[in-house]
Amino acid sequence: MRLKIVQTGEPVLREPARPLTPKEILSADIQRLIADMRDTMRDAPGVGLAAPQIGLGHQLAVIEDREDLLKAVSPDELADKERTGVAFHVIVNPRITPVGDEKIEFFEGCLSVAGFMAAVARAHRVRVECLDENAKPRVIEASGWYARILQHEIDHLNGTLYIDRMHPRSFTTLDNYSRHWRSKPTTK
Ligand code: ZN
Repeated sequence: MRLKIVQTGEPVLREPARPLTPKEILSADIQRLIADMRDTMRDAPGVGLAAPQIGLGHQLAVIEDREDLLKAVSPDELADKERTGVAFHVIVNPRITPVGDEKIEFFEGCLSVAGFMAAVARAHRVRVECLDENAKPRVIEASGWYARILQHEIDHLNGTLYIDRMHPRSFTTLDNYSRHWRSKPTTK
């Protein structure tokens, strides 16, 4: 089932989400929610969706960077962004730490700030400790675009949007991003 994605200004996007217990994660309600969030993310399409974006204050997000999304991006852009396929997975109650000091800057967007993009500096490499959809502990080490997705989604669980971290003067409509900025190299 496709869920409604709420837009910036909705209070739930600004509230810290609450952790889920292992029992809650394994419940029929949360398992159905995960399937619905997966369908909603694929339909959007997006590479991540956090529970607050569908109006629920749970520390849960789904992530997937599918091959058919990558096909629409040039090889140069994929290499520049260090963007590769990421299999569908779920993160619950995540704790994130940057690995090293390196930051890189790229344009990014958000399904809850529909129609806009901006340049955001983020850690190049991160480590995430979380639970998966089976309430099993999981450690994720990620770099490049996948690390950016994780930082963006985990920000949602803390009531933070990319517009809090963006370079304000880079804020652009999606249309103008495609016309003026997409082909330009971004400073690293
Ligand atoms: Zn977002």
